[in-house]
Amino acid sequence: MSDVVVLGSMNMDLVVRVGHIPRPGETVLGRDFVTVPGGKGANQAAAAARLGVRVEMLGRVGADAFGEAMLANLYAQGVGTAHVRRDHANPSGIALITVDERGENAIVVAPGANGRVSVEDVEGAEDVIKQAQFLLMQFEVPLPTVRAAIGLASRWGVRVILNPAPAQAVRPDFFQGVYCLVANETEAEILTGLAVRSLEAAARAGQALRQMGVPVAIVTLGAEGALLSTEEGDLHVPARKVEVVDTTAAGDAFIGGLVAALLKGMPWPEAVRYATCAGTLATTVLGAQTSLPDAARVEAFFREGRP
Ligand code: ADP
Repeated sequence: MSDVVVLGSMNMDLVVRVGHIPRPGETVLGRDFVTVPGGKGANQAAAAARLGVRVEMLGRVGADAFGEAMLANLYAQGVGTAHVRRDHANPSGIALITVDERGENAIVVAPGANGRVSVEDVEGAEDVIKQAQFLLMQFEVPLPTVRAAIGLASRWGVRVILNPAPAQAVRPDFFQGVYCLVANETEAEILTGLAVRSLEAAARAGQALRQMGVPVAIVTLGAEGALLSTEEGDLHVPARKVEVVDTTAAGDAFIGGLVAALLKGMPWPEAVRYATCAGTLATTVLGAQTSLPDAARVEAFFREGRP
């Protein structure tokens, strides 16, 4: 039994720090090479598990060393991996990342097995999906697969939380059956065509997302927190000021916090406040999965901020 099923991507990030990012044809000498498990699906699964949620991962890795390492990492974080497929025809997804001294980066993503997660995979996982409270997805696996999973989950009354990242324009009816959309400013803009540069604009974007048939839309606003849009109205939940070290995976921590809070039975405004706390705490620590806060930290920060 799991509370949340995550259908999404797993990538191995291959990271090298360099003096400067090489130009075409140039070779530069890098510093230490590190491998870091990532991918939005895996990060969000880890974020929820870190907060005590029972999570099952669905997706594909290659039958290779990166795949084994990513599954071992997820398992170590408390995420169920028994239903992740090992794809013998495609390599694991990877991201080649160079980071220069100013923190600028250049990234090449090769989705590999993530790009092969299929409608048949979703149908084969019906028993896993149907017993969950929530199905959580992103846009790093093929969109027809995501669409099929929305349909299957809604037939079983499983609530779908969708983070349309990286942003891709889709037909408005794509979201029929989704319970909650969580988009950052860029994603909200690409989906709605509305520039999100103020709280009022975020509220308008939230409403536009809801007009696509989704009861709840959340637009995350970085240091400004998040905007919750429901039929009861709009609510801005500010983020508290912290010493920001690295905002990588803040959005993933936010989503982990959101599902954890909803599973605790919190109403939407409280749940978004809890999620905002999780997102903000993730910005105070370097890294992606390494920066995800645990339940004790989020709860302490959440209680501290109560009026
Ligand atoms: P993404 O990482 O997907 O682009 P955001 O940048 O909107 O998403 O961040 C997600 C959440 O992380 C925000 O809603 C907020 O709670 C928290 N957060 C991000 N950046 C900051 C920051 N500079 N200060 C405080 N909280 C932040």
